[in-house]
Amino acid sequence: MSGTFYVTTPIYYVNAKPHIGHAYTQVVADTLARFHRILGEDVFFLTGTDEYGEKIEEVSLAKYGEKGHEKEFVDSIVVKFREAWGSLNVSNDYFIRTTDPGHGKLVQDMLQGLWDKGEIEEGEYDGWFCTPCETFWTDTQAENGVCPECNRPLGRIKEKNYFFKMGKYREWLLEYINEHPTFIMPEFRRNEVLGFLREELTDLCISRPKERMSWGIELPFDKGYVVYVWFDALLNYVSGIGASGRERERFWPANFHLIAKDIIRHHAVYWPIMLKAMGLELPKTVFAHGWWKMGADKMSKSKGNVVDPLAFIEKYGVDPLRYFLIKAVKLGMDGSFSEDAFIATYNSDLANDLGNLLNRTLTMVEKYFDGVVPAAPRDPGDPAQLARSNELRSGIKGILPLVKGKMLSRDLLLQEALETVMQTVVGRANKYIEASAPWNYSKQGNMEAIKLIMADLVEALRVTAIAIAPFMPATADKMWRQLGAGDDIKADISPSVYDKWEPDKLAGVKVAKGEPLFMRIK
Ligand SMILES: [Zn+2]
Repeated sequence: MSGTFYVTTPIYYVNAKPHIGHAYTQVVADTLARFHRILGEDVFFLTGTDEYGEKIEEVSLAKYGEKGHEKEFVDSIVVKFREAWGSLNVSNDYFIRTTDPGHGKLVQDMLQGLWDKGEIEEGEYDGWFCTPCETFWTDTQAENGVCPECNRPLGRIKEKNYFFKMGKYREWLLEYINEHPTFIMPEFRRNEVLGFLREELTDLCISRPKERMSWGIELPFDKGYVVYVWFDALLNYVSGIGASGRERERFWPANFHLIAKDIIRHHAVYWPIMLKAMGLELPKTVFAHGWWKMGADKMSKSKGNVVDPLAFIEKYGVDPLRYFLIKAVKLGMDGSFSEDAFIATYNSDLANDLGNLLNRTLTMVEKYFDGVVPAAPRDPGDPAQLARSNELRSGIKGILPLVKGKMLSRDLLLQEALETVMQTVVGRANKYIEASAPWNYSKQGNMEAIKLIMADLVEALRVTAIAIAPFMPATADKMWRQLGAGDDIKADISPSVYDKWEPDKLAGVKVAKGEPLFMRIK
Protein backbone atom coordinates (compact mmCIF):
# COMPACT_ATOMS: atom_id res chain seq x y z
CA MET A 1 0.00 0.00 0.00
CA SER A 2 1.40 3.36 -0.94
CA GLY A 3 -0.09 5.79 1.56
CA THR A 4 -3.59 6.82 2.52
CA PHE A 5 -6.11 9.15 0.92
CA TYR A 6 -8.97 10.50 3.00
CA VAL A 7 -11.67 12.52 1.25
CA THR A 8 -14.93 13.81 2.72
CA THR A 9 -18.10 15.47 1.51
CA PRO A 10 -20.11 17.62 3.86
CA ILE A 11 -22.67 15.67 5.82
CA TYR A 12 -25.96 16.85 4.40
CA TYR A 13 -28.65 18.43 6.45
CA VAL A 14 -31.69 16.17 6.31
CA ASN A 15 -34.46 18.73 6.24
CA ALA A 16 -35.14 17.95 2.57
CA LYS A 17 -34.20 15.32 0.01
CA PRO A 18 -30.97 15.36 -2.03
CA HIS A 19 -30.63 17.78 -4.94
CA ILE A 20 -28.18 18.25 -7.78
CA GLY A 21 -25.77 20.33 -5.65
CA HIS A 22 -25.37 17.43 -3.22
CA ALA A 23 -24.98 15.04 -6.15
CA TYR A 24 -22.20 17.20 -7.56
CA THR A 25 -20.08 17.05 -4.40
CA GLN A 26 -20.66 13.31 -4.30
CA VAL A 27 -19.51 12.82 -7.89
CA VAL A 28 -16.36 14.90 -7.39
CA ALA A 29 -15.45 13.05 -4.20
CA ASP A 30 -16.26 9.70 -5.74
CA THR A 31 -14.15 10.39 -8.82
CA LEU A 32 -11.19 11.30 -6.63
CA ALA A 33 -11.68 8.28 -4.39
CA ARG A 34 -11.85 5.91 -7.36
CA PHE A 35 -8.78 7.49 -8.93
CA HIS A 36 -6.72 7.16 -5.76
CA ARG A 37 -7.84 3.55 -5.36
CA ILE A 38 -6.46 2.83 -8.83
CA LEU A 39 -3.17 4.35 -7.66
CA GLY A 40 -3.12 1.68 -4.96
CA GLU A 41 -3.66 4.03 -2.05
CA ASP A 42 -5.61 3.08 1.06
CA VAL A 43 -8.65 5.28 0.41
CA PHE A 44 -11.24 6.34 2.93
CA PHE A 45 -14.20 8.19 1.44
CA LEU A 46 -16.65 9.48 4.03
CA THR A 47 -20.09 10.96 3.55
CA GLY A 48 -23.17 11.10 5.75
CA THR A 49 -25.95 13.14 7.23
CA ASP A 50 -26.25 16.00 9.69
CA GLU A 51 -29.33 15.30 11.77
CA TYR A 52 -29.59 17.58 14.79
CA GLY A 53 -30.61 21.19 15.22
CA GLU A 54 -33.42 23.65 15.32
CA LYS A 55 -34.47 23.32 11.72
CA ILE A 56 -34.94 19.55 12.00
CA GLU A 57 -36.91 20.00 15.19
CA GLU A 58 -39.15 22.46 13.37
CA VAL A 59 -39.83 20.36 10.26
CA SER A 60 -40.41 17.29 12.40
CA LEU A 61 -42.82 19.23 14.59
CA ALA A 62 -44.64 20.45 11.51
CA LYS A 63 -44.92 16.90 10.17
CA TYR A 64 -45.91 15.05 13.35
CA GLY A 65 -47.69 17.82 15.26
CA GLU A 66 -45.62 17.28 18.44
CA LYS A 67 -42.01 17.10 19.58
CA GLY A 68 -40.28 13.77 20.12
CA HIS A 69 -40.48 12.38 16.58
CA GLU A 70 -37.19 13.83 15.36
CA LYS A 71 -35.36 10.50 15.08
CA GLU A 72 -38.28 8.98 13.18
CA PHE A 73 -38.25 11.97 10.88
CA VAL A 74 -34.51 11.91 10.15
CA ASP A 75 -34.58 8.14 9.64
CA SER A 76 -37.14 8.64 6.87
CA ILE A 77 -34.98 11.23 5.07
CA VAL A 78 -31.64 9.46 5.52
CA VAL A 79 -33.00 6.52 3.50
CA LYS A 80 -33.46 8.90 0.55
CA PHE A 81 -29.84 10.06 0.76
CA ARG A 82 -28.54 6.52 0.91
CA GLU A 83 -30.69 5.51 -2.07
CA ALA A 84 -29.62 8.54 -4.06
CA TRP A 85 -25.92 7.83 -3.53
CA GLY A 86 -26.48 4.19 -4.44
CA SER A 87 -28.12 5.23 -7.71
CA LEU A 88 -25.31 7.67 -8.38
CA ASN A 89 -22.81 4.83 -8.01
CA VAL A 90 -21.03 6.59 -5.16
CA SER A 91 -18.37 4.37 -3.58
CA ASN A 92 -18.22 5.89 -0.10
CA ASP A 93 -16.48 3.64 2.41
CA TYR A 94 -18.66 4.75 5.29
CA PHE A 95 -21.84 6.71 5.91
CA ILE A 96 -21.80 8.65 9.17
CA ARG A 97 -24.96 9.87 10.90
CA THR A 98 -24.63 12.44 13.65
CA THR A 99 -27.35 10.61 15.59
CA ASP A 100 -25.09 7.53 15.82
CA PRO A 101 -24.16 6.96 19.50
CA GLY A 102 -20.43 6.74 18.70
CA HIS A 103 -20.47 10.20 17.15
CA GLY A 104 -22.35 11.64 20.15
CA LYS A 105 -19.81 10.13 22.53
CA LEU A 106 -16.87 11.64 20.63
CA VAL A 107 -18.55 15.07 20.54
CA GLN A 108 -19.10 14.94 24.30
CA ASP A 109 -15.51 13.83 24.93
CA MET A 110 -14.20 16.70 22.82
CA LEU A 111 -16.46 19.20 24.57
CA GLN A 112 -15.39 17.96 27.99
CA GLY A 113 -11.75 18.22 26.96
CA LEU A 114 -12.20 21.81 25.79
CA TRP A 115 -14.15 22.68 28.95
CA ASP A 116 -11.40 21.21 31.15
CA LYS A 117 -8.78 23.22 29.27
CA GLY A 118 -10.73 26.43 29.72
CA GLU A 119 -11.43 26.80 26.00
CA ILE A 120 -15.17 27.04 26.65
CA GLU A 121 -16.74 29.53 29.04
CA GLU A 122 -20.16 30.61 30.19
CA GLY A 123 -21.53 33.93 29.02
CA GLU A 124 -24.54 35.90 27.96
CA TYR A 125 -25.51 35.78 24.33
CA ASP A 126 -27.18 38.84 22.97
CA GLY A 127 -27.35 38.97 19.21
CA TRP A 128 -28.83 37.69 15.99
CA PHE A 129 -29.54 34.14 14.92
CA CYS A 130 -30.43 32.70 11.52
CA THR A 131 -32.48 29.53 11.96
CA PRO A 132 -32.07 28.14 8.40
CA CYS A 133 -28.28 28.65 8.52
CA GLU A 134 -28.04 27.72 12.23
CA THR A 135 -25.63 30.62 12.56
CA PHE A 136 -25.17 33.48 15.01
CA TRP A 137 -24.31 36.94 13.76
CA THR A 138 -23.08 40.08 15.46
CA ASP A 139 -24.66 43.51 14.98
CA THR A 140 -21.92 44.51 12.55
CA GLN A 141 -22.29 41.35 10.49
CA ALA A 142 -26.08 41.49 10.42
CA GLU A 143 -26.88 44.77 8.79
CA ASN A 144 -30.59 45.61 9.02
CA GLY A 145 -31.28 42.36 10.87
CA VAL A 146 -30.74 40.28 7.74
CA CYS A 147 -28.59 37.14 7.48
CA PRO A 148 -25.39 37.88 5.49
CA GLU A 149 -25.37 34.27 4.26
CA CYS A 150 -28.93 33.75 3.03
CA ASN A 151 -30.53 37.22 3.26
CA ARG A 152 -33.40 35.98 5.39
CA PRO A 153 -34.64 38.02 8.40
CA LEU A 154 -32.84 37.15 11.63
CA GLY A 155 -34.21 36.47 15.09
CA ARG A 156 -32.95 38.38 18.15
CA ILE A 157 -31.76 36.19 21.03
CA LYS A 158 -30.67 37.02 24.58
CA GLU A 159 -29.83 34.15 26.93
CA LYS A 160 -27.16 32.39 29.01
CA ASN A 161 -24.98 30.22 26.85
CA TYR A 162 -21.57 28.62 26.46
CA PHE A 163 -18.90 30.10 24.23
CA PHE A 164 -15.96 28.53 22.51
CA LYS A 165 -13.10 31.02 22.86
CA MET A 166 -12.37 31.29 19.18
CA GLY A 167 -11.46 34.95 18.97
CA LYS A 168 -7.99 34.55 20.48
CA TYR A 169 -7.00 32.25 17.60
CA ARG A 170 -7.49 34.83 14.86
CA GLU A 171 -3.80 35.76 14.51
CA TRP A 172 -2.75 32.15 14.60
CA LEU A 173 -5.22 31.19 11.85
CA LEU A 174 -4.18 34.09 9.63
CA GLU A 175 -0.60 32.98 9.91
CA TYR A 176 -1.49 29.35 9.30
CA ILE A 177 -3.43 30.17 6.13
CA ASN A 178 -0.62 32.34 4.86
CA GLU A 179 1.95 29.66 5.51
CA HIS A 180 -0.16 26.87 3.97
CA PRO A 181 -1.21 28.12 0.54
CA THR A 182 -3.17 24.96 -0.30
CA PHE A 183 -5.12 24.80 2.95
CA ILE A 184 -8.03 26.68 1.36
CA MET A 185 -8.66 26.18 -2.34
CA PRO A 186 -9.30 27.55 -4.89
CA GLU A 187 -7.09 30.55 -4.30
CA PHE A 188 -9.89 33.13 -4.52
CA ARG A 189 -11.67 31.37 -1.65
CA ARG A 190 -8.52 31.63 0.45
CA ASN A 191 -8.55 35.36 -0.16
CA GLU A 192 -12.19 35.50 0.86
CA VAL A 193 -11.41 33.78 4.17
CA LEU A 194 -8.44 36.08 4.77
CA GLY A 195 -10.97 38.86 4.26
CA PHE A 196 -13.25 37.56 7.05
CA LEU A 197 -10.23 37.33 9.32
CA ARG A 198 -9.31 40.96 8.85
CA GLU A 199 -12.30 41.77 11.05
CA GLU A 200 -12.52 40.89 14.70
CA LEU A 201 -13.31 37.23 15.34
CA THR A 202 -15.94 36.84 18.05
CA ASP A 203 -16.16 33.83 20.32
CA LEU A 204 -18.56 31.18 19.07
CA CYS A 205 -21.77 30.46 20.92
CA ILE A 206 -21.89 26.66 21.00
CA SER A 207 -24.89 25.88 23.13
CA ARG A 208 -28.69 25.94 23.01
CA PRO A 209 -30.81 25.87 26.16
CA LYS A 210 -32.93 22.72 26.03
CA GLU A 211 -36.04 24.66 26.98
CA ARG A 212 -35.80 26.36 23.58
CA MET A 213 -34.32 23.55 21.51
CA SER A 214 -33.62 20.05 22.74
CA TRP A 215 -32.84 18.08 19.53
CA GLY A 216 -29.08 17.86 19.91
CA ILE A 217 -26.17 16.35 21.81
CA GLU A 218 -26.20 17.25 25.48
CA LEU A 219 -23.31 19.28 26.89
CA PRO A 220 -21.42 16.96 29.25
CA PHE A 221 -20.87 19.80 31.74
CA ASP A 222 -24.42 21.23 31.75
CA LYS A 223 -27.42 18.98 31.22
CA GLY A 224 -29.66 21.94 30.59
CA TYR A 225 -28.02 22.53 27.18
CA VAL A 226 -27.37 20.85 23.86
CA VAL A 227 -24.47 21.68 21.55
CA TYR A 228 -24.72 23.97 18.52
CA VAL A 229 -25.35 21.78 15.49
CA TRP A 230 -22.35 23.02 13.48
CA PHE A 231 -19.96 22.19 16.28
CA ASP A 232 -21.32 18.67 16.41
CA ALA A 233 -21.51 18.24 12.63
CA LEU A 234 -17.91 19.25 11.88
CA LEU A 235 -16.66 16.57 14.26
CA ASN A 236 -18.05 13.88 11.94
CA TYR A 237 -14.83 14.12 9.97
CA VAL A 238 -13.00 12.74 12.98
CA SER A 239 -15.68 10.48 14.47
CA GLY A 240 -16.40 8.86 11.10
CA ILE A 241 -12.94 7.32 10.95
CA GLY A 242 -13.35 5.43 14.22
CA ALA A 243 -16.98 4.58 13.48
CA SER A 244 -15.89 2.86 10.27
CA GLY A 245 -13.45 0.71 12.23
CA ARG A 246 -10.36 2.54 10.98
CA GLU A 247 -7.56 4.00 13.07
CA ARG A 248 -7.68 7.74 13.47
CA GLU A 249 -3.90 8.00 13.52
CA ARG A 250 -3.74 6.42 10.09
CA PHE A 251 -6.29 8.60 8.28
CA TRP A 252 -6.29 11.93 10.08
CA PRO A 253 -5.67 14.61 8.86
CA ALA A 254 -7.98 14.35 5.85
CA ASN A 255 -6.51 15.09 2.42
CA PHE A 256 -9.62 16.89 1.18
CA HIS A 257 -12.76 18.30 2.69
CA LEU A 258 -14.91 18.99 -0.37
CA ILE A 259 -17.58 21.56 0.38
CA ALA A 260 -19.87 24.04 -1.32
CA LYS A 261 -18.84 27.68 -1.10
CA ASP A 262 -21.64 28.70 1.29
CA ILE A 263 -20.12 26.70 4.17
CA ILE A 264 -16.57 27.94 3.82
CA ARG A 265 -16.63 30.00 7.03
CA HIS A 266 -17.49 26.93 9.09
CA HIS A 267 -14.82 24.80 7.43
CA ALA A 268 -12.03 27.33 7.06
CA VAL A 269 -12.48 29.33 10.27
CA TYR A 270 -14.43 27.43 12.95
CA TRP A 271 -13.13 23.97 12.13
CA PRO A 272 -9.38 24.67 12.07
CA ILE A 273 -9.68 26.59 15.33
CA MET A 274 -11.65 23.75 16.93
CA LEU A 275 -8.96 21.31 15.83
CA LYS A 276 -6.17 23.54 17.06
CA ALA A 277 -7.85 23.93 20.46
CA MET A 278 -8.37 20.16 20.67
CA GLY A 279 -4.74 19.52 19.78
CA LEU A 280 -5.51 17.82 16.45
CA GLU A 281 -3.89 18.42 13.09
CA LEU A 282 -5.69 20.43 10.42
CA PRO A 283 -6.99 18.87 7.19
CA LYS A 284 -4.59 19.33 4.28
CA THR A 285 -7.09 21.06 2.00
CA VAL A 286 -10.57 22.51 2.27
CA PHE A 287 -11.77 22.74 -1.34
CA ALA A 288 -14.89 24.79 -2.01
CA HIS A 289 -16.88 24.33 -5.19
CA GLY A 290 -19.51 26.66 -6.59
CA TRP A 291 -23.26 26.49 -6.87
CA TRP A 292 -25.42 25.09 -9.63
CA LYS A 293 -27.81 27.54 -11.11
CA MET A 294 -30.84 26.68 -13.16
CA GLY A 295 -29.98 28.56 -16.33
CA ALA A 296 -29.19 31.97 -14.81
CA ASP A 297 -31.32 31.56 -11.65
CA LYS A 298 -30.27 30.27 -8.31
CA MET A 299 -31.83 26.88 -7.61
CA SER A 300 -34.30 27.13 -4.78
CA LYS A 301 -37.29 25.30 -3.44
CA SER A 302 -39.40 28.43 -3.54
CA LYS A 303 -38.71 28.89 -7.26
CA GLY A 304 -39.61 25.25 -7.82
CA ASN A 305 -36.55 24.75 -10.04
CA VAL A 306 -34.59 22.26 -7.94
CA VAL A 307 -33.14 19.49 -10.09
CA ASP A 308 -33.75 16.01 -8.74
CA PRO A 309 -30.71 13.89 -9.60
CA LEU A 310 -32.70 10.66 -9.30
CA ALA A 311 -35.14 11.71 -12.00
CA PHE A 312 -32.21 12.37 -14.34
CA ILE A 313 -30.58 9.05 -13.57
CA GLU A 314 -33.82 7.23 -14.22
CA LYS A 315 -34.36 9.01 -17.50
CA TYR A 316 -30.82 9.13 -18.92
CA GLY A 317 -28.64 6.79 -16.86
CA VAL A 318 -26.10 7.49 -14.16
CA ASP A 319 -22.89 8.00 -16.14
CA PRO A 320 -24.26 10.74 -18.41
CA LEU A 321 -25.18 12.72 -15.29
CA ARG A 322 -21.77 12.12 -13.72
CA TYR A 323 -20.12 13.13 -17.00
CA PHE A 324 -22.15 16.30 -17.36
CA LEU A 325 -21.54 17.46 -13.78
CA ILE A 326 -17.78 17.21 -14.19
CA LYS A 327 -17.64 18.42 -17.79
CA ALA A 328 -19.92 21.44 -17.46
CA VAL A 329 -17.95 23.37 -14.86
CA LYS A 330 -14.42 23.98 -13.70
CA LEU A 331 -14.24 22.87 -10.08
CA GLY A 332 -14.66 25.92 -7.86
CA MET A 333 -16.80 27.96 -10.26
CA ASP A 334 -20.59 28.19 -10.44
CA GLY A 335 -22.31 25.96 -12.97
CA SER A 336 -25.46 26.34 -14.96
CA PHE A 337 -27.72 23.33 -15.23
CA SER A 338 -30.33 22.86 -17.91
CA GLU A 339 -31.84 19.79 -19.47
CA ASP A 340 -31.12 21.17 -22.96
CA ALA A 341 -27.42 21.62 -22.20
CA PHE A 342 -27.35 18.17 -20.68
CA ILE A 343 -28.93 16.59 -23.76
CA ALA A 344 -26.62 18.46 -26.13
CA THR A 345 -23.55 17.24 -24.22
CA TYR A 346 -24.92 13.72 -24.03
CA ASN A 347 -25.57 13.49 -27.75
CA SER A 348 -22.34 15.06 -28.95
CA ASP A 349 -19.77 13.72 -26.46
CA LEU A 350 -21.22 10.43 -25.35
CA ALA A 351 -23.52 9.09 -28.07
CA ASN A 352 -21.69 10.49 -31.13
CA ASP A 353 -18.06 10.63 -30.07
CA LEU A 354 -17.46 7.93 -27.49
CA GLY A 355 -20.31 5.53 -28.22
CA ASN A 356 -19.83 5.60 -31.99
CA LEU A 357 -16.08 5.21 -31.74
CA LEU A 358 -16.47 1.97 -29.82
CA ASN A 359 -19.26 0.73 -32.03
CA ARG A 360 -17.58 1.49 -35.35
CA THR A 361 -14.25 0.09 -34.23
CA LEU A 362 -15.65 -3.19 -32.98
CA THR A 363 -17.82 -3.55 -36.11
CA MET A 364 -14.68 -3.21 -38.27
CA VAL A 365 -12.60 -5.56 -36.11
CA GLU A 366 -15.37 -8.13 -36.57
CA LYS A 367 -15.70 -7.47 -40.28
CA TYR A 368 -12.02 -7.49 -41.21
CA PHE A 369 -10.46 -9.79 -38.58
CA ASP A 370 -13.27 -12.04 -37.30
CA GLY A 371 -13.31 -10.06 -34.07
CA VAL A 372 -9.66 -10.68 -33.16
CA VAL A 373 -7.63 -7.53 -32.47
CA PRO A 374 -4.62 -7.39 -34.81
CA ALA A 375 -1.13 -6.38 -33.69
CA ALA A 376 0.16 -3.15 -35.23
CA PRO A 377 2.45 -3.93 -38.20
CA ARG A 378 5.66 -1.93 -38.50
CA ASP A 379 5.00 -1.17 -42.14
CA PRO A 380 1.41 -0.61 -43.21
CA GLY A 381 2.48 -0.32 -46.84
CA ASP A 382 1.51 3.33 -47.07
CA PRO A 383 3.72 6.10 -45.65
CA ALA A 384 0.71 8.43 -45.38
CA GLN A 385 -1.05 5.93 -43.13
CA LEU A 386 2.06 5.52 -41.02
CA ALA A 387 2.22 9.27 -40.56
CA ARG A 388 -1.45 9.45 -39.53
CA SER A 389 -0.91 6.59 -37.10
CA ASN A 390 2.12 8.23 -35.51
CA GLU A 391 0.18 11.41 -35.00
CA LEU A 392 -2.68 9.65 -33.23
CA ARG A 393 -0.28 7.54 -31.21
CA SER A 394 1.59 10.56 -29.94
CA GLY A 395 -1.68 11.73 -28.36
CA ILE A 396 -2.51 8.32 -26.92
CA LYS A 397 0.97 7.75 -25.58
CA GLY A 398 1.04 10.75 -23.27
CA ILE A 399 -2.58 10.77 -22.19
CA LEU A 400 -2.52 8.69 -19.00
CA PRO A 401 0.43 10.55 -17.42
CA LEU A 402 -1.26 13.82 -18.42
CA VAL A 403 -4.57 12.79 -16.85
CA LYS A 404 -2.79 11.63 -13.71
CA GLY A 405 -1.03 14.98 -13.36
CA LYS A 406 -4.29 16.90 -13.68
CA MET A 407 -6.12 14.70 -11.18
CA LEU A 408 -3.29 15.12 -8.66
CA SER A 409 -2.89 18.85 -9.16
CA ARG A 410 -3.67 21.14 -6.24
CA ASP A 411 -6.46 22.66 -8.32
CA LEU A 412 -8.13 19.27 -8.84
CA LEU A 413 -8.37 19.67 -12.60
CA LEU A 414 -10.95 16.94 -13.09
CA GLN A 415 -12.77 18.79 -15.84
CA GLU A 416 -9.55 19.31 -17.81
CA ALA A 417 -8.55 15.68 -17.35
CA LEU A 418 -11.84 14.48 -18.78
CA GLU A 419 -11.84 17.00 -21.60
CA THR A 420 -8.29 16.11 -22.59
CA VAL A 421 -9.19 12.46 -23.01
CA MET A 422 -12.29 13.28 -24.99
CA GLN A 423 -10.41 15.59 -27.35
CA THR A 424 -6.94 14.12 -27.62
CA VAL A 425 -8.00 10.50 -27.84
CA VAL A 426 -11.70 10.10 -28.63
CA GLY A 427 -12.07 13.14 -30.87
CA ARG A 428 -8.85 12.44 -32.78
CA ALA A 429 -9.61 8.74 -33.13
CA ASN A 430 -12.92 9.52 -34.81
CA LYS A 431 -11.15 11.83 -37.25
CA TYR A 432 -8.51 9.14 -37.76
CA ILE A 433 -11.17 6.76 -39.04
CA GLU A 434 -12.39 9.30 -41.59
CA ALA A 435 -8.89 10.31 -42.69
CA SER A 436 -7.63 6.72 -42.90
CA ALA A 437 -10.75 5.35 -44.62
CA PRO A 438 -10.08 1.66 -43.97
CA TRP A 439 -12.82 0.75 -46.46
CA ASN A 440 -10.58 2.08 -49.24
CA TYR A 441 -7.62 -0.03 -48.10
CA SER A 442 -9.99 -2.97 -48.12
CA LYS A 443 -10.82 -2.35 -51.78
CA GLN A 444 -7.10 -2.12 -52.53
CA GLY A 445 -6.47 -5.34 -50.59
CA ASN A 446 -4.01 -3.60 -48.20
CA MET A 447 -4.79 -5.51 -44.97
CA GLU A 448 -1.59 -4.31 -43.26
CA ALA A 449 -2.90 -0.76 -43.27
CA ILE A 450 -6.22 -1.92 -41.84
CA LYS A 451 -4.38 -3.86 -39.13
CA LEU A 452 -2.58 -0.72 -38.10
CA ILE A 453 -5.79 1.33 -38.05
CA MET A 454 -7.64 -1.24 -35.94
CA ALA A 455 -4.72 -1.69 -33.53
CA ASP A 456 -4.58 2.08 -33.04
CA LEU A 457 -8.33 2.43 -32.50
CA VAL A 458 -8.50 -0.41 -30.02
CA GLU A 459 -5.57 1.11 -28.14
CA ALA A 460 -7.30 4.50 -28.13
CA LEU A 461 -10.41 2.87 -26.64
CA ARG A 462 -8.43 0.88 -24.09
CA VAL A 463 -6.67 3.99 -22.82
CA THR A 464 -9.95 5.91 -22.80
CA ALA A 465 -11.65 3.24 -20.68
CA ILE A 466 -8.82 3.49 -18.13
CA ALA A 467 -8.88 7.29 -18.07
CA ILE A 468 -12.65 7.56 -17.65
CA ALA A 469 -12.95 4.75 -15.11
CA PRO A 470 -13.02 7.09 -12.07
CA PHE A 471 -15.55 9.38 -13.80
CA MET A 472 -17.90 6.88 -15.43
CA PRO A 473 -17.18 3.54 -13.80
CA ALA A 474 -20.05 1.60 -15.36
CA THR A 475 -19.24 2.84 -18.87
CA ALA A 476 -15.57 2.01 -18.44
CA ASP A 477 -16.52 -1.54 -17.45
CA LYS A 478 -18.81 -1.92 -20.46
CA MET A 479 -16.06 -0.71 -22.78
CA TRP A 480 -13.57 -3.03 -21.10
CA ARG A 481 -15.79 -6.06 -21.65
CA GLN A 482 -16.62 -5.17 -25.25
CA LEU A 483 -12.92 -4.70 -25.99
CA GLY A 484 -12.31 -8.19 -24.67
CA ALA A 485 -9.92 -6.75 -22.07
CA GLY A 486 -11.56 -8.43 -19.07
CA ASP A 487 -14.63 -8.43 -16.83
CA ASP A 488 -13.72 -5.80 -14.27
CA ILE A 489 -11.49 -2.90 -15.17
CA LYS A 490 -10.67 -2.12 -11.52
CA ALA A 491 -9.34 -5.61 -10.97
CA ASP A 492 -7.45 -5.71 -14.26
CA ILE A 493 -5.39 -2.54 -14.04
CA SER A 494 -2.48 -1.95 -11.72
CA PRO A 495 -1.35 1.18 -9.83
CA SER A 496 1.31 1.82 -12.47
CA VAL A 497 -1.25 1.93 -15.31
CA TYR A 498 -1.04 5.72 -15.54
CA ASP A 499 2.72 5.72 -15.91
CA LYS A 500 3.27 3.44 -18.85
CA TRP A 501 2.12 2.98 -22.39
CA GLU A 502 1.40 -0.55 -23.50
CA PRO A 503 0.51 -0.56 -27.19
CA ASP A 504 -0.65 -3.90 -28.56
CA LYS A 505 -1.78 -4.87 -25.06
CA LEU A 506 -4.99 -6.24 -26.57
CA ALA A 507 -3.46 -7.80 -29.70
CA GLY A 508 -4.88 -11.28 -30.17
CA VAL A 509 -7.91 -10.89 -27.91
CA LYS A 510 -11.41 -11.38 -29.20
CA VAL A 511 -13.71 -8.42 -28.93
CA ALA A 512 -17.30 -8.80 -27.73
CA LYS A 513 -19.38 -6.11 -29.33
CA GLY A 514 -22.46 -5.35 -27.27
CA GLU A 515 -25.24 -2.83 -26.95
CA PRO A 516 -24.34 0.75 -27.90
CA LEU A 517 -22.99 2.58 -24.84
CA PHE A 518 -25.35 5.54 -25.24
CA MET A 519 -28.53 5.80 -27.29
CA ARG A 520 -29.02 9.18 -28.89
CA ILE A 521 -31.67 11.34 -27.23
CA LYS A 522 -34.11 12.66 -29.81
ZN1 LIG B 1 -29.19 32.54 6.93
